[in-house]
Amino acid sequence: MAGLTAAARARELGATPVVLEKGYRPGGSMLLSSGVVWRQPSLDDFRAECPDGDSVLQRRIVDELDDALDWLESLGVESVARETGNPLTVGRRYDTRVLTDVLVRAAGDVRLEEPFHEAGILATGGFGARLARQRGLLLRANEWSEGDGLDYGVARGASLTEGLDQFYGRALPGGVDERDYVSAAQLYARHALVLDDEGGDLGDAAWHESDLVQRLPGGRAWYVVDVRALRQSVRERTVADLVDAARAAGGDVRPAEELPFALPASPKLVERPFIAIRVHAAVTHTIGGLRIDECARVLDADGRPVPGLLAAGADAGGIFTGGYGSGLAAALVYGRIAAETALR
Ligand SMILES: Cc1cc2nc3c(=O)[nH]c(=O)nc-3n(C[C@H](O)[C@H](O)[C@H](O)COP(=O)(O)OP(=O)(O)OC[C@H]3O[C@@H](n4cnc5c(N)ncnc54)[C@H](O)[C@@H]3O)c2cc1C
Repeated sequence: MAGLTAAARARELGATPVVLEKGYRPGGSMLLSSGVVWRQPSLDDFRAECPDGDSVLQRRIVDELDDALDWLESLGVESVARETGNPLTVGRRYDTRVLTDVLVRAAGDVRLEEPFHEAGILATGGFGARLARQRGLLLRANEWSEGDGLDYGVARGASLTEGLDQFYGRALPGGVDERDYVSAAQLYARHALVLDDEGGDLGDAAWHESDLVQRLPGGRAWYVVDVRALRQSVRERTVADLVDAARAAGGDVRPAEELPFALPASPKLVERPFIAIRVHAAVTHTIGGLRIDECARVLDADGRPVPGLLAAGADAGGIFTGGYGSGLAAALVYGRIAAETALR
């Protein structure tokens, strides 16, 4: 998203940018996403959620996202909802195919299957594919974000942020087709007893559950639910729907009596039958990355801008460190900022 956004903004400002896209289709992970572009209501909320992130970078998202969304809509994309459905966040929801089409049109010259060799604005979506491979985890993102932007930045003298081992994660029932990345996500850890392979209780999760997914031993766990849990709502669906989605995806869903260990007693398991669902940690995007300033300039180890080099989206680290936030919002806000800085 960040690259298309930067190009659209640069073009609006009178430049003739070229977007070099490694994949056979534009849109990256944005196209695969739920399309909810959101922010924490205030900087304090952002700080509480992502305590190790850079507050200067976070502030620009809080201050500028709403205007950036208006700008996005001025390009011709309409929101499908003007709220997120989550009382902890504010934002809007978009159809990601429409979003991609509109941004590609606004960006102008988008060349597919052309990995970059030289770039002014790095926007390759972080290194989720590489991290997933190195850690033996599933990937729940576009397959091309391998860290090419990161490597290029480092070769040009960039420094890196903290949190290079952190990722925005979701629990999947197994490897699924990219069209099912959203629908197959098992997003009900708060209603489940979450157990490791020996039956040890892995404890509670934050509302977004990305914290829990990052600490699943060996990248896997069992979610065990009772009948009451199946009736709970998760976004527009129920836990029962999500368990059905796991089954439909070929996941391991079984009566909890068939687990290879005794179930610990838990207030979450009251009404029988109990059902166990095998889940696997999946990397959506990385959280650490190139260090940038609030103008999207890539910084070296002394905090000085690397001449002529900007970064936006998941290539830029330091925004969500220690927590969770909207990668689409970061890509949109910093994609626009990168274009404005480049043209200044
Ligand atoms: C299933 C799913 C659901 C999600 N839901 C949400 C949501 O609702 N809200 C939210 O805020 N975020 C969501 N996200 C995360 C969001 O999609 C990302 O944070 C966002 O797309 C990051 O933007 P980006 O521009 O950094 O990366 P991308 O959008 O992935 O774009 C990076 C692009 O760079 C290309 N690229 C990689 N390497 C090279 C190279 N060497 N040369 C040229 N091009 C290259 C890639 O092919 C890709 O097109 C979701 C992600 C997924 C996968």
